[in-house]
Amino acid sequence: MHSLNSEIEKINLIGKTAAKKLKKLSLYKIKDLLYYFPFRYEEYAGVQSFQAIKLNSNVNIKGRIEFIQNKRSFKKRMYITEAIVSANAIPVKVVWFNQPFIAKNLKVGDYISLAGKLEKDFAGFIIKSPAYEKITSFAKSSLHTEGLVPIYPLTSNLTQKQIRYLISQAIKLVAGLIDWLPKQTIKKLKLLSLGDAIKKIHFPKSQNDIIKARERLAFDELFLLQIQSQILKNNLKNATAEKINFKENETKKFINSLPFSLTDSQKRSSWAILQDMQKDKPMSRLLEGDVGSGKTLVAIIALLNCALNERQGILMVPTEILAFQHFKNIANTLKEFKFKIGIITNSRAEANFKLEGKNKKEIISKNCQIIIGTHSLIQEKINFKNLALAIIDEQHRFGVEQRKILTKKGDNPNFTPHFLSMTATPIPRSLALALYGDLDISIIDEMPKNRKKIFTKIVSEEKRDKAYDFIKQQINFGRQIFVVCPLIDVSDKLGVKSVLEEFEKLNKSIFPELNIHYLHGKMKPDEKETIMEKFLKNEINILVATSVIEVGIDIPNATIMMVEGAERFGLAQLHQFRGRIGRGEHQSYCFLFADYKSQKTHERLLAMEKFNDGFSLSKIDLELRGPGEVFGTMQKGFPELKIASLFDVALIKKAKEEALALLQEDPELKNYFYLKTKINELNQNVHLE
Ligand code: ADP
Ligand code: MG
Repeated sequence: MHSLNSEIEKINLIGKTAAKKLKKLSLYKIKDLLYYFPFRYEEYAGVQSFQAIKLNSNVNIKGRIEFIQNKRSFKKRMYITEAIVSANAIPVKVVWFNQPFIAKNLKVGDYISLAGKLEKDFAGFIIKSPAYEKITSFAKSSLHTEGLVPIYPLTSNLTQKQIRYLISQAIKLVAGLIDWLPKQTIKKLKLLSLGDAIKKIHFPKSQNDIIKARERLAFDELFLLQIQSQILKNNLKNATAEKINFKENETKKFINSLPFSLTDSQKRSSWAILQDMQKDKPMSRLLEGDVGSGKTLVAIIALLNCALNERQGILMVPTEILAFQHFKNIANTLKEFKFKIGIITNSRAEANFKLEGKNKKEIISKNCQIIIGTHSLIQEKINFKNLALAIIDEQHRFGVEQRKILTKKGDNPNFTPHFLSMTATPIPRSLALALYGDLDISIIDEMPKNRKKIFTKIVSEEKRDKAYDFIKQQINFGRQIFVVCPLIDVSDKLGVKSVLEEFEKLNKSIFPELNIHYLHGKMKPDEKETIMEKFLKNEINILVATSVIEVGIDIPNATIMMVEGAERFGLAQLHQFRGRIGRGEHQSYCFLFADYKSQKTHERLLAMEKFNDGFSLSKIDLELRGPGEVFGTMQKGFPELKIASLFDVALIKKAKEEALALLQEDPELKNYFYLKTKINELNQNVHLE
């Protein structure tokens, strides 16, 4: 008999290939399946007596197959599978289009359950393209075609049926799940037990089941987040930091040397940070500002003052490309000051001075005043010297735990480094305060003055050539272009654009005379960096890339962002892509190429045409898709929240109150063994680069 911690392969009937695909979704153990939540539900009517069934509505019927065969329609160039199913002795015709394999899976005499719209034509009842499922008994309720059927976010060719089957197996072990939430909290807030919530999120019997299950599971996430950030806050309460004095003259000199003047928001945030750092308590501040609002400069001002105080400052970012960009940019911006500046990533250790000796990472971490890097910075073997300021860029890409490790990286046990995190996540101040309970907040709420509104347009396939002409024109003016595609390589997902394919096409047939290159996450770091560097120097005209260019990349000369398969990206992501352009003084353009039928997708893309700021877009996203789906796709942005919505203010408040009360009563969680274990478990799950 297996347990929740058994490998997923232990489930019956699961093949090696399927297991591999599951691993791609980070599903390793049976337990992981329980936490793989559906992002929506298909609602099929429960089994009704045939007489009660309404025409033209969604129904479920069960019956025996009396006849089934494939036909080919040459006129329409497709396969048609036709079957007759007798349901309560009434014949119902069933047709499927272009799924010839169905006739292989089903045979005369099989019993099936069907879900779809029942219609009537001259020949009798008919259902077109229903969901179907073989059944062994009429009495048992069916998994895929009856009632509320969960739909999971899937990739790598797994089918909904496969995953539903696996989860239906895993759910049998749900009793083994330990409910770590304190009993009194469950009781007070009238929450479901953990086991119940998990059962109901996967196999709800009613809409109310879904609501209650989501409430409990979302509460869990928010509550854990609050507990973690409150523990962080408590730890810092008694901590001491090194004072970083504001070096007024040098700072002014630096600011005056910039080719532009700071926005008021940038000044205000910088000032708040400089004041924080002058105290002997560690700063804990969140800097929030829309894509392109100029957060990096604020970070540079903090790093500059830290270095002028002969202390060390570090900047951690989520990707190697971004680390390299910041390294180059900061080394260049501050070159007058002759600081030692270095970069540390998984594969790279470099500095703006000659590194002699074997252990380059060590030389950098011991000698530089400013170090930029990825997760590699928080690895155990990296030891800093005189560390007094730690900054995280794009903090929504990191977990609370990584934040904690970073603030503990100081080399002097008597001092805790000042801490600043930066994000473009568009959440209101009140919410940010509720959510990141331990941080003070500064918001940059304006864009640099020279910015022009980015012109955004959904472009139809017929106008593609025109778009290419326009691109050509921009390149003649000296500008550069991004083309983003959903996939790296040609795949069996027919019609979805891939980087390599688009690159070939543009390079060979459309713009043979231009310099075109591609960029994706599977390339070697130094390859990626060389390309980014060339792009920055305008030695590449068009860069065809995956979403690797999503965060942070700053190429002020790029003026067109062309997104292929735009229907496959969420609004938050599209906004991030668009944030790569319009960063300089030139008018910029975002072209969305999309293939879709759904009205909702259309509205989503229209919102991109209409709104330029992240805040309006995230509101629209919520209205269109509801919190469940929005945070399904934004997941990467919020690794710790799978189901909770950042916009559910009431639940966030409750979670915060409960967490505070609990920690006040028992700061070490001595009486809450399971909760403590859960927190420790989370702490161990920090994924390194
Ligand atoms: P983000 O907030 O998205 O990190 P960046 O810091 O990358 O934005 O800044 C975007 C671009 O705007 C950069 O090219 C930067 O040099 C430029 N920039 C920053 N501040 C100003 C300003 N006050 N005026 C004009 N341009 C600015
Ligand atoms: Mg940035």
